[in-house]
Amino acid sequence: MRHLIADPVIHREHWRDADDDTLRLECGVCGVWGADEDAASAIVALGLHALQHRGQEACGIASVKDSRFHTERHMGLVGEAFGGADLATRMPGRAAVGHTRYSTAGGSFLRNIQPMFADLDSGGIAVAHNGNLTNFHYLRKQLVGEGSIFQSTSDSEVILHLIARSRKAKIVDRFIDAIGRIEGGYALVCQTRFKMIGARDPLGIRPLVLGKIGEAWVLASETCALDTIGATFVRVVEHGEVVIIDEKGLRSLKPFPSRAARPCLFEYVYFSRPDSVVNGRSVYGVRKRMGQGLAREHGVEADVVVPVPDSGVPAALGYAQESGIPYEMGIIRSHYLGRTFIQPSQATRQKGVRMKHSPNRSVLEGKRVVLIDDSIVRGTTSVKLVRAVRAAGATEVHLRSASPPILYPDFYGIDMPERDQLIAANMTLEEMRQHLEVDSLGFLSVDGLYAAMEAGPRDPKTPQFTDHYFTGEYPTRLLDREIEEGGREEPQRQLSLLVSA
Ligand code: AMP
Repeated sequence: MRHLIADPVIHREHWRDADDDTLRLECGVCGVWGADEDAASAIVALGLHALQHRGQEACGIASVKDSRFHTERHMGLVGEAFGGADLATRMPGRAAVGHTRYSTAGGSFLRNIQPMFADLDSGGIAVAHNGNLTNFHYLRKQLVGEGSIFQSTSDSEVILHLIARSRKAKIVDRFIDAIGRIEGGYALVCQTRFKMIGARDPLGIRPLVLGKIGEAWVLASETCALDTIGATFVRVVEHGEVVIIDEKGLRSLKPFPSRAARPCLFEYVYFSRPDSVVNGRSVYGVRKRMGQGLAREHGVEADVVVPVPDSGVPAALGYAQESGIPYEMGIIRSHYLGRTFIQPSQATRQKGVRMKHSPNRSVLEGKRVVLIDDSIVRGTTSVKLVRAVRAAGATEVHLRSASPPILYPDFYGIDMPERDQLIAANMTLEEMRQHLEVDSLGFLSVDGLYAAMEAGPRDPKTPQFTDHYFTGEYPTRLLDREIEEGGREEPQRQLSLLVSA
């Protein structure tokens, strides 16, 4: 028989007024189980620190000691929120989970900051989620109809409600019951009174890795977090896998029918840190090969190869090596701002671009420049940088994108605007060239990107990766979208990949 255990819980919340929040998120998650006395929260804070490229607007940690949960959720950077020496006292325990996040538009409601916590009849549970559920609205409507009261507008809260409403007896079974109903991309790290549970969506769209630090287990979005905290990499959590860590050790379950993995290509193109190894592939290595492929596909006579720092650096190195054109730091990036894109509104985003990058006249003056970025989304970054590079004296600017044209939005946890804001979805290649004011414009092909992944040619029946932003082929059904649009299909679109003036 289940009995009511109201876990005493201490919440500290720091927030400022904010507008409503959209539901798409970019995030990083980290959890530690079995650390030395009261050390877990500090380890998680360090792990989150290394994951802030995945989101840096807000962060939170939930630790547990003697069945008592301590949660803190803050706006702002991890160092500001959790950098203090008193963390072990504020958030004691040998187990903790944490989350760092970015909201794509509007403000960030504190109540959407994670980990989300709920007091279930079986005890407390804290959930940290990276990804986006594609049947969130559908499930939320159903749950509200059944009497659930939502505290946030975040899709992650749906998971808590599903766990709470499951009729299974044990927490692990209730968790599996819940994730059996969600669709989309997710990497989850949850903390109950006695267990840490990790899970990855059936296609492995979002990443999650397992590591060890001494006797303690670690779950994290990327291996760079393991490196930062001094943990050793054990293995990736596989697609569709649930791992349960408690005093009996680690248990792995594969509760759903097996399917082929389809990790998200954008983790390699942009999202993950270059020193991370994602699903067994070095992100840096993939990006460099993207640049090499780009040089083979769209070579040009030029004097210097210049990256858009930091995201274009490995691809530019690859392009320079393959083409024999010298690599130069023609744009200097200020490190005292967040990532350009990771700002909630278009106005600050544009301002961010100006403040973030400065042209290096000594490199650019009188030169024919190949300018390399990992991707072109709205075109905001490129327009500003091309003008700045020309103003610094470049005689020609040849823009190269190390990934194919982005033609379709993402619904699995990568921040990407709707189609009407995607430059490649709305202009021909020549229109884009003119808009971006470049002498030539070239994009890596989808085949070139698959070659950089060293995974063999793209299988048209079951592609090895999630690549809908380039191809329009979504790896799952999009239930919320189908309901919203009444089944209307996105028109298929193809672009040529190189154009010159
Ligand atoms: P845009 O200025 O809109 O064309 O965006 C392209 C720039 O944003 C490139 O420098 C990319 O490195 C970066 N970028 C691409 N995708 C994302 C994303 N999902 N989140 C944040 N930045 C991104």
